Amino acid sequence: MSSELTDIKSLSIDELTKELTDRLEVQKFRAKQIYEWLHKKLVTDFDDMSNISKELKNKLKENYYITKLEPVQVLTSKIDGTQKYLFKLSDGNVIESVLMKYKFGNSVCISSQVGCRMGCRFCASTLDGLERSLRPSEMLDEIYRIQSLTGERVSNVVIMGSGEPFDNYDNIVKFLDLLTDENGLNISQRNVTVSTCGLVPRILELAKRQLQITLAISLHAPNDELRRTMMPIANKYSIDEILHACKVYYENTKRRITFEYSLVQGVNDTMECAEELIHRLRGMNCHVNLIPVNPIKERDYKQSFAKDIEKFKNRLEKNGINVTIRREMGRDIQGACGQLRKSYLES
Ligand code: SAH
Repeated sequence: MSSELTDIKSLSIDELTKELTDRLEVQKFRAKQIYEWLHKKLVTDFDDMSNISKELKNKLKENYYITKLEPVQVLTSKIDGTQKYLFKLSDGNVIESVLMKYKFGNSVCISSQVGCRMGCRFCASTLDGLERSLRPSEMLDEIYRIQSLTGERVSNVVIMGSGEPFDNYDNIVKFLDLLTDENGLNISQRNVTVSTCGLVPRILELAKRQLQITLAISLHAPNDELRRTMMPIANKYSIDEILHACKVYYENTKRRITFEYSLVQGVNDTMECAEELIHRLRGMNCHVNLIPVNPIKERDYKQSFAKDIEKFKNRLEKNGINVTIRREMGRDIQGACGQLRKSYLES
């Protein structure tokens, strides 16, 4: 891809309109048409924009390129129909995305970076560090390709794949604008979740935007000491600081916060941990999502016993906390973050 060309799919409709009217002296309504070709009809080639003149197509090709991810592998779970997609980016890097089919609609879990630099001990995405962040167009195309390949509408998006979204904050905000734009896929903000390991300043920044997006916090431990053994980011921000930022987010958006808690056998699944967690979350309008840890071969963490998971859940519930146990989807297709990419790179 020539470097002078602009990434047209990362431009908002206002930016595109400005670009096309100022730079190419195109009429305004054309910008809207082109935006719809890219973000509603999901074309990946200027030649497929059938109501655009040949002359304008040529001008577009001289100035812009259209990001297109290439599917290199698609795995379908025999257990629950979950699909895992491995996509190749134009620079040869690969990323993974997951399609989960629920009664309420299709949900896509996207990656926000190639690799990750957060270093969480249970996570496969971070084992080789961060390669680079994804551009808005690349994150969008994870969803666009899946919708085109399946022919089914995607109604929910979770930014819970590889990478730390708030380590790619500007591009995430841009991506959210494009994803929820009424001229594009028009996904409701309420159907979007962004999951973070807890970069406090970014949580506060997002809170200021007052979007209706669900914020999910990867907590995984009820105290800083234990959290530091699982997640290096805990050395930088305390749970108190995170919970304060969550309160601000809630005050600004009235959106209930989700806390993710991956249960690791003998590490964070004891009744003492449950009690401490209850104490910490008391009075917050929140929801706890328990995730039985998906063991990766590079680390010694084991999944909690089913009876301990149940006990943990019951204890929280008895104390008035909303809890769900995340259904394990796609266990047979390397469902955990970053597992598929890693095995692809190693083969
Ligand atoms: N960086 C973001 C998004 C990453 S992954 C974040 O930290 O939230 C989404 C969730 O899956 C996070 O809660 C993450 O901690 C968790 N996770 C990652 N690998 C896991 C594994 N092997 N087993 C269970 N949960 C895992």
